Amino acid sequence: MATQKMLKFVSTPREMPEKRSAQERSEDFNEIYREFAEQKAAEQAGRCSQCGVPYCQTHCPLHNNIPDWLRLTAEGRLEEAYRVSQSTNTFPEICGRICPQDRLCEGNCVIEQSGHGTVTIGAVEKYITDTAWENGWVQPTAPKQERAESIGIIGAGPGGQAAADSLRRMGFQVTIYDRYDRPGGLLTYGIPGFKLEKDIVMRRSKLLEDGGVEYVLNCNVGEDISFDAIRGKHDAVLIATGVYKTRDLDIDNADAGGVVRAIDYLTASNKVDFGDDVPDFNDGELNAKGKRVVVIGGGDTAMDCVRTAIRQGAQSVKCLYRRDRANMPGSQREVQNAEEEGVEFVWLSAPGAFAAQGTVDTVRVRKMRLGAPDVSGRQSPELIEGADYDEPAELVIKALGFEPEDLPRLWGVEGLEVTRWGTIKAEFQTHQTSIPGVYAVGDIVRGASLVVWAIRDGREAAEAIADFLTGEARVAAE
Ligand SMILES: Cc1cc2nc3c(=O)[nH]c(=O)nc-3n(C[C@H](O)[C@H](O)[C@H](O)COP(=O)(O)OP(=O)(O)OC[C@H]3O[C@@H](n4cnc5c(N)ncnc54)[C@H](O)[C@@H]3O)c2cc1C
Ligand code: SF4
Repeated sequence: MATQKMLKFVSTPREMPEKRSAQERSEDFNEIYREFAEQKAAEQAGRCSQCGVPYCQTHCPLHNNIPDWLRLTAEGRLEEAYRVSQSTNTFPEICGRICPQDRLCEGNCVIEQSGHGTVTIGAVEKYITDTAWENGWVQPTAPKQERAESIGIIGAGPGGQAAADSLRRMGFQVTIYDRYDRPGGLLTYGIPGFKLEKDIVMRRSKLLEDGGVEYVLNCNVGEDISFDAIRGKHDAVLIATGVYKTRDLDIDNADAGGVVRAIDYLTASNKVDFGDDVPDFNDGELNAKGKRVVVIGGGDTAMDCVRTAIRQGAQSVKCLYRRDRANMPGSQREVQNAEEEGVEFVWLSAPGAFAAQGTVDTVRVRKMRLGAPDVSGRQSPELIEGADYDEPAELVIKALGFEPEDLPRLWGVEGLEVTRWGTIKAEFQTHQTSIPGVYAVGDIVRGASLVVWAIRDGREAAEAIADFLTGEARVAAE
């Protein structure tokens, strides 16, 4: 009976939830995909071939039990589907929205490999958990037994919050410190609402709070409280501070007025989306309205900047990237969305200088070609002499990637070892740093990465911290 509802990939074509028209979605910061209707979710889940070796599961960093929750969805057993899905993923509706599925689960779906189009795993995962929220199946943690030991977590992004959730479930006392005024890290202030609406992030933080997690916000560790003071207050500490130092350009007028950092630009836009009063937006500095905008970079951050500029009413938006479309790090799906919304990609192009009289007025664009592969196997861009031209721009957004801040120096911590890239050294799987009782997860260990990896790290670290505090061996998270 069960199998009758599955294996429909030959007769049922792949369908994503309906995407709002480019015209409509360019005028607001709401998500661009609508929700599946129940029938459609069941139909799409039923396309899964239930193959013996589920490569989707292997390539999901959380090893989600995807075939099982697809089958339960196809059978209309949504509460059970939700229970299975949330047992391995702390934030399934968030991953369903923003994981680059084409590189993870869906990119490895067997029916995709056989030319039938992948099962829309992310959209079904989102549907299951959104339905769970609507039906009241998502409830705050109520640990069976409270424990006295406390853990201080620095950083309320997905890594810190995933660890907090697991630790509270085990009954530990958890306090999260964050320098921002709202929890969520880049989920709140990096990723724009058109990919992930803010109430989705806030309701998760509230759920943790309702389950007993204490938040200390507007608290910059290293300034408002020392790292040593946090260590003194807690039995174990988890560092989950992400990476925020912007890679910069070494060219003329790189700091001219009108040349801004992506993180500042996106944070301001997200605050405006919350209804906050943002002076740097109000005075026009971080507002693209009416301007010719040039974004530099080819990753997810650049994609979010170009699409934010469109929604703010920019006159034109161009994205300069020094390699070509096939070699960009950002998701192809996001490039397509951006193009539909009116963004122009200028491939094989890099900035040579900015001309500015007070504020920027043009970008000198240097044309590139792809040369021989470098040690990583990627073709290096090479300059084409004499092909430069000037691109007019009133706002230039630098989205060249992020590096870790020098935490041992900033926090005055002796013995906290870092790698040669400045990321914190932490053991594989336990995530313990060079200081006993101090753990680290997410981007501050991996370098700029993905939400789903931060969640996995946080869940694993919680297990290791519990072992450390109780001396009890427990079953690993996966
Ligand atoms: C613009 C943008 C778009 C992205 N889009 C995607 C996407 O679509 N899909 C995806 O999977 N990933 C995406 N990412 C990557 C993803 O957001 C990160 O990999 C993930 O958020 C890392 O989680 P984290 O918990 O390690 O750190 P963060 O989310 O960065 O959270 C760190 C937290 O620590 C706090 N903090 C830092 N220093 C201190 C201090 N000294 N004291 C107190 N608090 C401190 C910060 O305020 C922050 O709240 C994107 C990143 C950016 C920048
Ligand atoms: S968490 Fe991400 S990679 Fe894993 S199943 Fe969900 S969308 Fe796919």
